Amino acid sequence: MKIICASFQCESNSRAKTHPQKHDFEYFRGEDIFKKLVVKEVFTEAGFEVIPSIYSVALPAGTVEKDIYLYYAEQILQTVKDNSDACGVYIFFHGSMEVDEIGSGELYLLKEIKKIVSEKCVISLTMDAHANITDELCDYADIVCGFKTVPHTDQAESELRAANCLIKAIKSGIKPFMYIQRVPFLLKNDTLLTREEPLKTLIEETMELENRNDIYSANLFLGHCWIDAPNTSASTVVCATDKKTAQKVAKSLANKLWATRKLYKFKIEAESPEKSVDMAINGSENRIFVTDSGDNTTAGAEGQCTDILKLFLERDTAKRVCVAGITNQEIVEKFWNKKDGESIFVKELSKNAIVKSHGNILGWGKELIGRSLCLSFGNIDAIFTEKRSAFIEKRNFDEANTDLLSYKVVVVKLGYLFQELKPFADREIFALSDGASCVEIEKLNLTKIIRPMYPLDEFEWEA
Ligand SMILES: [Zn+2]
Repeated sequence: MKIICASFQCESNSRAKTHPQKHDFEYFRGEDIFKKLVVKEVFTEAGFEVIPSIYSVALPAGTVEKDIYLYYAEQILQTVKDNSDACGVYIFFHGSMEVDEIGSGELYLLKEIKKIVSEKCVISLTMDAHANITDELCDYADIVCGFKTVPHTDQAESELRAANCLIKAIKSGIKPFMYIQRVPFLLKNDTLLTREEPLKTLIEETMELENRNDIYSANLFLGHCWIDAPNTSASTVVCATDKKTAQKVAKSLANKLWATRKLYKFKIEAESPEKSVDMAINGSENRIFVTDSGDNTTAGAEGQCTDILKLFLERDTAKRVCVAGITNQEIVEKFWNKKDGESIFVKELSKNAIVKSHGNILGWGKELIGRSLCLSFGNIDAIFTEKRSAFIEKRNFDEANTDLLSYKVVVVKLGYLFQELKPFADREIFALSDGASCVEIEKLNLTKIIRPMYPLDEFEWEA
């Protein structure tokens, strides 16, 4: 009895200009995919033969070009064709992959898989809590288990839940019924945190529901506002042994989720870039982090914007400031051969600077992917990177040969700070900057989403 395993993920951002290329995908095939996926043991222990396909995962970016998408999708389809007698398929998706000329990358692949496998084959998925679920997903998959944490810390648990549900469905011979309830709201992703109320209680409820014998999985998907597509919104998805239960529970969760729509607020200070910079300069805390949320590389933005750096340069501060992770291949290339301590002129900023340190940058999988150059403009240091990267932990600063602990103000291109940086932050300020990952829904000019949609429209709704 075979179970096919694969993963194909890239969170798309319609506003981002850079489309992911092949080299942007961390890629494994065959047995090596289990360096990344944790499901092999559960399937093997349950007596199944595990058939690995590919693992292909990229950092959030612009929409995926059709030929890049098909290059990977066809490899998964080939594994399915070679093993069309499989009794199960397990795929770890993000759930918000938008493909040029195709639409939802997840849906297309599932449709193609469904044409190949037998009617009895059970398809189980793991998805990110920010997945934009398409209404047709229930026609092509049987089980979905979404992350229950934002920021995400339960990827492995979510994989195992989906794997165990798949085993249960195959062994019991009962194909789950999936019910999807769209919830017409689209909120600032960074205000939705599962360790805070009201989401905390709602997530706990989904976990209790999953203890029931008749429910495989109960999920809240919060949606992802940076894709302009008809499936962009929150949703609830319940997989149960019968249609009535799945529908009833999904609707009940949807109504509860809808009822909370006005309660999501930033848990940290969120201000305009100008005000954020002033607050950081004037704050008395030992170390203040400012997040440049509109240019958040973990949400698909390019990380090229120097607006916040310029705001600091305009204000002559005595504090030691570091602006980390500005994507600029030209600057790194142009000054790479200069020695540390040498003076240079940075045309892009019309400023003199001193080369402070040469270093490396880390990719999504924490591997070294390129070079970084730290330039000092008086008290203000800026780390330029030749490729897009995300400064999410102290190691990013270490690899760039900069001392995180020496700074009083640190700017990173994120929304909320990653957990790994929190111990170094005595205060966090969320700068509401513009850009590909701008969190202000009203500014996104979404034209393809369904309407009415809260908060763009004010209306009554019930599932
Ligand atoms: Zn997510």
